[in-house]
Amino acid sequence: MRGRVQGVGFRPYVWRLAQDVGLRGHVLNDGTGVRIDVWGDAEDLDQFQLRLTQSPPPLAQIAGVTATNLAGLATQNDFAVTDSLSGPVATEITPDAATCPACRAEIFDPMNRRYAYPFTNCTHCGPRLSIVRGVPYDRALTSMLAFPMCKDCQTEYENPADRRFHAQPNACPACGPQIWLEDADGRLGSADPISEMAHRLMQGQIVAIKGIGGFHLACDATNEQAVLRLRRRKSRVAKPFALMARDIAQIRGFCYVSEAEAALLSTPIAPIVLLARRNDTTLDGIAPGLDRIGVMLPHTPLHHILMAQLTGPLVMTSGNRAQTPQATSNDAARTVLAGIADVWVMHNRDIVNRLDDSLMRVDTNGPSILRAGRGVSPAQIALPKAFGGAPPVLAMGAALKSTFCLIKDAQAIPSAHIGDLTTAETYADFRSKIALFRALYDVTPAVIAVDLHPDYLSTRYGYQLARDSGARLITVQHHHAHMASCLAEHGVAPDGTRSVGVILDGSGLGTDGTIWGGEFLLGDYGGFERKAHFQPIALPGGDQAAREPWRNLVAHLHAAFGESWQRHIAGTPLVAMLDDQPVGLITQMIAQRVNTPLASSAGRLFDAVAAALGIAFARQHYEGQAAMELEALIGGEEPTEGYPAAVSATGVISWAPLWAALLDDLRSGVARSIIAARFHAGLAVAIAALAARVAQQAGVTRIVLSGGVMQNRILLHRIETSLTAQKFTVLCQHKLPANDGGISLGQASIAAIEAQN
Ligand code: ZN
Ligand code: ZN
Ligand code: FE
Repeated sequence: MRGRVQGVGFRPYVWRLAQDVGLRGHVLNDGTGVRIDVWGDAEDLDQFQLRLTQSPPPLAQIAGVTATNLAGLATQNDFAVTDSLSGPVATEITPDAATCPACRAEIFDPMNRRYAYPFTNCTHCGPRLSIVRGVPYDRALTSMLAFPMCKDCQTEYENPADRRFHAQPNACPACGPQIWLEDADGRLGSADPISEMAHRLMQGQIVAIKGIGGFHLACDATNEQAVLRLRRRKSRVAKPFALMARDIAQIRGFCYVSEAEAALLSTPIAPIVLLARRNDTTLDGIAPGLDRIGVMLPHTPLHHILMAQLTGPLVMTSGNRAQTPQATSNDAARTVLAGIADVWVMHNRDIVNRLDDSLMRVDTNGPSILRAGRGVSPAQIALPKAFGGAPPVLAMGAALKSTFCLIKDAQAIPSAHIGDLTTAETYADFRSKIALFRALYDVTPAVIAVDLHPDYLSTRYGYQLARDSGARLITVQHHHAHMASCLAEHGVAPDGTRSVGVILDGSGLGTDGTIWGGEFLLGDYGGFERKAHFQPIALPGGDQAAREPWRNLVAHLHAAFGESWQRHIAGTPLVAMLDDQPVGLITQMIAQRVNTPLASSAGRLFDAVAAALGIAFARQHYEGQAAMELEALIGGEEPTEGYPAAVSATGVISWAPLWAALLDDLRSGVARSIIAARFHAGLAVAIAALAARVAQQAGVTRIVLSGGVMQNRILLHRIETSLTAQKFTVLCQHKLPANDGGISLGQASIAAIEAQN
């Protein structure tokens, strides 16, 4: 049996089944999965095989079963779980899994020896990647080494009939990790730390809680003052907070939860799921300007016990200071979160590998991952056979929402979300995670793939690794990588069949040295042509334009109407809004081309339109704020007609007609929600039409949608619906983020193909 069948309780499952059916033989882990040798009556064997795949352990994923007839007689009279035939097998490391129902029942059972024990786990749940120091996956190489098992735990661990057979993090109150509370002055002598923590939360305090992949900062989500205090102390003005709720019923008090969303929330991943917020809620400071809230369920016994003592949801946001990664060690939490937290919930099980909470959502075509972290990583994506001939590849990703990706034996192994490579801490984490994954998967990269942008830290580190190791270096254009990421996650074979890639993005370096971001590419893993693109528009002040949406508004108006653009905004609120800004200077910079690189960016178009509606006008407090609030502004608005766009014979989309119509709407006082809706509708029509045209001219039937802007639900849905109706095969990203978090898979797959040529 192949797939995720090691380290998930698969052998005991097989053992119980064989006992039940009455078969002789053995089960063992081998290099590719689990091997079962069984002897018995034909009828029993059939029954065994039938039942084998029916109710596998919760964390198992069966990718395939191969059955052959064994020669000879049974080698034993019973059924046994045995070690591998030839030396030790490196058991696959699986993602951390949320507390299973059986463990949850135990911690709430006063008669159980694990009653209220916050580190209860078993083969079906508990920490995994977060506690791993090396391979093979064995207690000695995890942070559980510090906790020798007591006799009771050891007995469970050795008994194939027990749920805790070979559960490496197995622990109980007698032998396992312990929690305690601290404040800024030191350890608090509390007999019941969790009840004390609940009490303090209800009083409005901010509590740092050591979780699975790092520290969280928590406060009562229904206490507006506490939420504001957390925002102030964390210097987090507007960026949305995630919540933790006790159960689905509690979530339904403030969000709409579909069956699919409820199922996703309840998986062993226990991700943060973006849910539509109810209009009658008072959770105002949680996600300002947005109509969706990220919510997760308790995923450790600690969280379950805590939430059971509270009446409402908690803010559960990452325990860090702006721009830096989540604190993982007790010492770091003490220093980094000093002045933010009132009290710390500490424990003595080390977090070895930092993992952010995974962020997901459910659309009409199923769940998709917006950020891969706890519960998702480490993941493997099977690539088409043709990738099997490639030497091992390491791809370095981009600069923001950094990830890396390995390819080995036609398996892609993308890393979890690491963060923006803008601080020394994140960069250090990036390098150490690469080293860890190389060790875990025993990969020595012969090929290193980097972005075309020479100044990304990831690119520079890639150069350095290639230089030091002699690996071949392959540079990959940013949007080509986005496109290939989507192809690879869908298992599209590198057979020469081309696709059209519509990549809507913030920015990435193009092959012509300018900044790209609204791209219509034609090609495959092996290469691409840029067939059409958004009109290049000045970025006044370069990077500053990405932070200050009004700059893009001026640049877009300048591009649409020329030097005299200010005459065109007469009679609109823009006159007064722009009054406070150095508009003359910016206009001059654009006209004289001083510090105003050109970019065909889709992200900056959203910023400009948002600014025109007064959204994040002067500055964005977090990346994507303007675009996200612009989308949220639509509400349920269904426009009769979108804004027009013009496409030149050479495939350049100009937004001049859009701006003319939008200014007319502003002048006649049309509601902002309708303007936002008309913008999205018009954009979707223009993009779908141009994508279809490029595809038809090239005789291509498959269209790939990726890039960070494609995380806009309304835009994505409209483009997808339109192209599907025209009988195109449309692929968008589900297993990896459409934003730069998905780039490394694309880079790796492109490099794997190129390395074989
Ligand atoms: Zn369990
Ligand atoms: Zn124990
Ligand atoms: Fe990008």
